[in-house]
Amino acid sequence: MLRKASQFLAALLLTACAGLPAGVDTVLDVSPETASAAAWLVPKLHLSKPVMVTEDALLEQGLFGYSRNLPDRYQITLDWRLDPDAKNMVLIHELAHVVHWEHGGGGGEHGSGWGEAYAEVFRVWVQEK
Ligand SMILES: [Zn+2]
Repeated sequence: MLRKASQFLAALLLTACAGLPAGVDTVLDVSPETASAAAWLVPKLHLSKPVMVTEDALLEQGLFGYSRNLPDRYQITLDWRLDPDAKNMVLIHELAHVVHWEHGGGGGEHGSGWGEAYAEVFRVWVQEK
């Protein structure tokens, strides 16, 4: 069980990604649990642009989620079939990309800069929840 959980977390770290997957054409409404988590977490990150969170079918493309840095907002999309806890972990992963972009985005997509951003977002999630 622990092994499965750690494999899942490693997969989240590696395969949730910032690239835009091909063929995303239908955006579903976000689940109440995810909307609540985003509404609680995002304001605590003090970002320069709003964050829009949506859900779609991404697993077929090997993704749990992805994020985009748009001129007027950050866009995060999560696979709608993940359970709420997994969705929260992917949300944190993608918010780390957002925070990384806010800090300049250096060091690669999942490099040390992103890792520091991930720690920052996760610290807020764990300590203030
Ligand atoms: Zn990523």
